Amino acid sequence: MPNILITNDDGIQAPGLRALAESIKEIAEVTVVAPLHERSAAAQSLTLRQPIYYEQVAEREYAVDGTPADAMILAFHTLLGEKPDLVISGINRGGNMGENVYYSGTVGAAMEAAINHVPAIAVSVALRGKEYDFEPAARFTRSLAPLIMKEGLPPGVILNVNVPQPWTGSVRFTRQSSKITRNLLKPGTDPRGRNYFWLHEQQLVEGIEPDTDIAAVRDGAISITPLELDHTHAASLNHLSHWAKRLEASAKR
Ligand code: MN
Repeated sequence: MPNILITNDDGIQAPGLRALAESIKEIAEVTVVAPLHERSAAAQSLTLRQPIYYEQVAEREYAVDGTPADAMILAFHTLLGEKPDLVISGINRGGNMGENVYYSGTVGAAMEAAINHVPAIAVSVALRGKEYDFEPAARFTRSLAPLIMKEGLPPGVILNVNVPQPWTGSVRFTRQSSKITRNLLKPGTDPRGRNYFWLHEQQLVEGIEPDTDIAAVRDGAISITPLELDHTHAASLNHLSHWAKRLEASAKR
C-alpha cells in the first residue's frame, strides 16, 4: 500500500480531516500530522520564535502545536520514517479559491510538501447550504489520489481541489480567479475599553471569469487548479530586463 500523509489547517480534530483519513485508509497507509488547533489563514508561515511542541495522539497520528507548514516540516524531517507518496491537505471547511489561496493554510501545507519534493493536493469544500458534508469530497479524493500517484505531478506543482456542496458530478480543470471576496472590518470595543476591528469578508458576485475556479464551483462542478511554486512572471521578466542597464547607469552617477 502507498503511504499518504494527511494534514489540514482546521486542526487535527476537524471533521473534514477525519472524513478524509477514514476514506483514504481504504487505499493507503495513512499518517496524520496536523495542527493541534485551527490555523486557518496561516498560509505557509513558520514558527521561528518559540518551540514547536508536538504529541503522538494515536497510532500514526501526531498533533503539532504550530502551523500547517510547521507540521509538514516535522513530518518530513523527524516524524515519518520515509517521505510519503502523496500529501493531502484538507478537507478544508470552506472554499480556497481565487487570490485567497495566498492566505490558505490548507494550500500552504501542500506548497510546503511541494518544496520538499512530495506530490501534494489541497482539498476544500465550498458550501452553499447549511451543514457541511465532507463525504462526497472524501470519496472524490480517494479516486483522485491513485491517479496522481500513477501519473505524477510536475515538480513544484500542486493541485488545488475545490468541491462544491452540492456537487453535480462534473469536474473542471480551471485557472485561479482574481480575489472573489471583499475584506470587511467590523469595529468594536472590548470589555477593557480597547478598540478593535474584527476582520471578515463578503463574497463578490460580479466579474467572475468563466474558466476559473469560482465559476466551476458556482456551476456545481469540482474545480481543480494546478498551482505553481515558482511565482516568476516570465513575460515581465523579458519585458523589464532592460531596466537593469538603466539602473546600473543611474547607480554610477
Ligand atoms: Mn481552514
